[in-house]
Amino acid sequence: MVESASAPKLKFAIVGSGPSGFYAAEALFKRVPNSEVDMFDRLPTPFGLVRAGVAPDHPKLKQVIAVYDKIARTPGFRFVGNVEVGTDVTVEDLRASYHAAIFAYGASTDRRLGIPGEDLAGSHTATEFVGWYNGHPDYRDRTFDFSAERAVVIGQGNVAADVARILALPANDLMRTDIAEHAIAPLAESRIREICIVGRRGPAQAKFTSVELKELGHVPDCGATVEPADLELGAACLAELGEKANDEGRKNVELFKSFAAAIPNAHRRTIRFRFCEMPVRIRGDSRVEALVLAKSRLEGAPFAQVARARDEHVELPCGLVFRSVGYRGLPLPGLEYDERAGVVRNAKGRCLAGGVPLTGAYVTGWIKRGPTGLIGTNRADSLDTVESILTDLPHLNQGPRPGIEAIASKLRLRPVCTVDYPAWKVIDAAERERGRPKGKPREKFTRISDMLALVESAVPVD
Ligand code: NAP
Repeated sequence: MVESASAPKLKFAIVGSGPSGFYAAEALFKRVPNSEVDMFDRLPTPFGLVRAGVAPDHPKLKQVIAVYDKIARTPGFRFVGNVEVGTDVTVEDLRASYHAAIFAYGASTDRRLGIPGEDLAGSHTATEFVGWYNGHPDYRDRTFDFSAERAVVIGQGNVAADVARILALPANDLMRTDIAEHAIAPLAESRIREICIVGRRGPAQAKFTSVELKELGHVPDCGATVEPADLELGAACLAELGEKANDEGRKNVELFKSFAAAIPNAHRRTIRFRFCEMPVRIRGDSRVEALVLAKSRLEGAPFAQVARARDEHVELPCGLVFRSVGYRGLPLPGLEYDERAGVVRNAKGRCLAGGVPLTGAYVTGWIKRGPTGLIGTNRADSLDTVESILTDLPHLNQGPRPGIEAIASKLRLRPVCTVDYPAWKVIDAAERERGRPKGKPREKFTRISDMLALVESAVPVD
C-alpha cells in the first residue's frame, strides 16, 4: 500500500517479539498506510523462540533473524524491551493508547502430565532444559543431573527431538554453537548412555517432522534404534499411511524401519524409540529412579486414533525424565482465556469478550491458535490477523492516540530502563564479540542485569 502523508498515523502495539510478532509488524507495514508499530517484550532481547527455543546446532533456522532485523529497521518501528505487559503495563493501557494491540506472546509454559512423581527431582519440562541450554534468563540457574545412564523423553514431537539430540551430541559438536556457556561442561561430563523417546501412540502418529527424525539417525557416535515388532502396524495405521497427503507419516515410518534394520554398532550413546506406552507414574524416593508406563493400544478411526491404557505395566529405570508433551499459553489479565485450549479466546485473531470482539485487541501465533506449526506458519497466521484489523479499521476510532508517550510516562516510574532496538544491537554486538575467541557465533548474556548494565553504560535509553 502507498503511504499517504495526509492520512492519520495509526499506532499499533505488538506484545511479543517472536516470529508471530515480527510477521504481524511486517504485515501492518505492508497493508496499513502510515502505521507505527511499538513492539513490547518482557526480555531486553528480541526474537522469542528463535533465540531461546531453536536448538544451538540449528543455526540455519536462526537465519530468519535477518528478516526480522530488516522489519525492525522499517521507519515507524520501535522495540520496547524489558517491559512486561500484565505487570508494568496493562492490556487496558495498550488498548487506550494505541489504535490496536496485537498479542503475540506465545505459549511459555508446558502442559502437565498429571501423574504422581511429576515434580520429583530429576523430572523436568522440556521448556526448562531448552531454556537452560539456550541461555534464557528464566532458566539459566536450573541444574540437571546427567550422572545416570538412562534419560527418558516423554513425547514424540520436534521439541522431544531437540532435547534428545542435545543430550546425545558429543560436547565437541556443541562447543562452537551459540549454546550457553554454562551448559557445556555439564553436558560434556554427562554419563548418559541411552536416551529413550517414548510415545503414547505408534510410529505412524509420531509428530516429528521427517527432517528432524532423520537427524536423530545421524548423531555422531550415537545409534538410533526401534524394536522391529513396534513397526507391525494395524489396519487404521496402514490406512493413515495410505492417505496421499500423509507424506510425513510415510517418511517417518520408513526412517523408523531403517533404524530397526541398522546393524548395531559400538556407539557411545543410543537413542531408543519406544511406542504405545503411556506414562503412569514417576517413581523415586527423593529423586527420579524409574518411569512407570502402561502399555497402550490404539482405538478409533484413521487420524482419530487415541491411546488406551492396557492392564500391563513396564518400569523403565532412569535418572532423568524430560516431559515434552507440548507447550501451553498463559492467560493475560484483560483478555478472555480459553482454559481448555490454553489460548486467548478469539475469532480470526479478534480477541473475544463474552462472545463479541473486544475493540482494539487482537492475537496471533501460538497464543491465538495453540502451540503448533513451524516458524514460517506464523507468517500466514499474522497476515490473517492483520486482515481482520483491516476489515475492522473503518469501525475503529482513528482519532489521535498517545502511543508510546502514554506508556513511557508509566514506565518512567519503574526503577529499570527499557531497551530499544539500538540498545539491543549493543547487546548483540557484545555477544558476538564475546563468542569470537571461542569460535562461537555469540556468547549470550544470560542475566538481565548484565544486559541492562551494558546498555546503560553504552547508550542513553528511555
Ligand atoms: P507436538 O508436536 O505437539 O508433540 C507433542 C508430543 O507429546 C506428541 O507426541 C504427543 O502425543 C505427546 N503427548 C501429549 N500429551 C501427552 C500425554 N499426556 N502423555 C504422553 N504423550 C503426550 O509438540 P512439541 O514437540 O512441543 O512442538 C511444538 C511445535 O513446535 C510443533 O509444531 C513443532 O513442529 C514445532 N517445533 C519445530 C522445531 C523444528 O522445526 N526444528 C523444533 C521444535 C519445535 P500425541 O500425538 O499422542 O498427542
